[in-house]
This record gives sequence, structure tokens and C-alpha cells, in this order.
Amino acid sequence: MRSVSDTLKQLKQTGLRVTDPRIEVVKEIHARDGLFTGEQLYDDLRGRGSGIGRATVFRTIDVLVELEILDRVHQPDGAHGYVLRGPGHRHHMVCSGCGNVVEFQGCNVDELIENLASETNFRIEGHWLEIFGTCGRCQDIPQASAD
Ligand SMILES: [Zn+2]
Ligand SMILES: [Zn+2]
Repeated sequence: MRSVSDTLKQLKQTGLRVTDPRIEVVKEIHARDGLFTGEQLYDDLRGRGSGIGRATVFRTIDVLVELEILDRVHQPDGAHGYVLRGPGHRHHMVCSGCGNVVEFQGCNVDELIENLASETNFRIEGHWLEIFGTCGRCQDIPQASAD
């Protein structure tokens, strides 16, 4: 598993100045479990008395996405969140109820991609695949009745 110091090392290698607020953001990200949004991260840091600026939080997240340290996850409502990326080629399953994210490996799309490439003459360089639904825990929560 990636550690805070791995991430900070990678940030330094880009030539980016690793300032205290950026370190704060990185630590907060590593302390979290599952999906988060930039807004949540910002609120939580501020809620604990941090004087961090919103722009710093969002810029740091963007850099971490560019470095492929964070994955951007699209949610069913059109918003997006972020999770720390695991090793290798992975995809995410997102619960629409609680936002819980499960990583999985093994997407069976090679044949589809080959067909698409030959039909469209695209040179395909990658893909995104995301699955969303309702996790087991959320399925157990009784639905509030309408009346
Ligand atoms: Zn859920
Ligand atoms: Zn894949």
C-alpha cells in the first residue's frame, strides 16, 4: 500500500514545492477510506481548525490525479469523487447509497476494444469502466415508505 511519504516523494519529483498545506492534504487523503470529494476534504480540514485554502485543496487533488496517485471516480449523480489508486490496472464499483467504493481487477473488454479499433480505425490507448449500484449494506436498510 502506498504511504504518505511515497506520495510526497512523488510530488517532489515533479518539481512541485511540497508546502505544509499540501502535506496536510496528502495526509488527510491517506487517512481516509473510500471515496471523497474535494469539498468534503476541504470541509473536514477546516473543521479541524486548518487554515488551508480551498484552491490549495483542489489544486493538490488535480496534481495527484495527474500523477495517477488518485483516481477520479464518476458518480451516478454526475459529480465526481476521488480514491487512492491501488496497484495495477483496476476499476471501481461505486455504491449510489453510501458512496462506498470497491476496486476490482479483470475487465473483460479486450475483444470489444479490438473490434472497435478495427471497425473505427481508432488507436485505442485506454478505457474507463465504472460500475455503480447499491452495496449489500445499503440494500439491507429498509426504504422509507412514501406515506
Ligand atoms: Zn452502500
Ligand atoms: Zn480495464
